[in-house]
Amino acid sequence: MDRRRQDTYRKRLNAELSELRALLERTEQAGRNVGDKTRGDEGEEAAKSYDREILFSQSDGERTHLNMVTEALKRLDSDEFGICILCGDAIKLKRLDAVPWTRYCRDCQEEVEQEAGAS
Ligand SMILES: [Zn+2]
Repeated sequence: MDRRRQDTYRKRLNAELSELRALLERTEQAGRNVGDKTRGDEGEEAAKSYDREILFSQSDGERTHLNMVTEALKRLDSDEFGICILCGDAIKLKRLDAVPWTRYCRDCQEEVEQEAGAS
């Protein structure tokens, strides 16, 4: 991959990274707010634990995404970017344009997803 293309992806990934950090901070802040100790009535408590549940899975997803973006930036620095970490094939540029933080080529992604779904 040529330098100019790498720079384009690096810019996109860095932008994604700062957006995710801001998002995660807001989610965690919201999590602290619903976690306050004042007890409401039963309905309010149920609503709060529902909110907590949502926020937890939300921040979980955001954290996973953040890790993937960070790893992609590391791979850019070590010239491994754009190469599938499973089979070592080059990932198609069209796919990288859509999801620059992807670790797998399309075939491996499908395999990974199938395994995750089967367990
Ligand atoms: Zn692959």
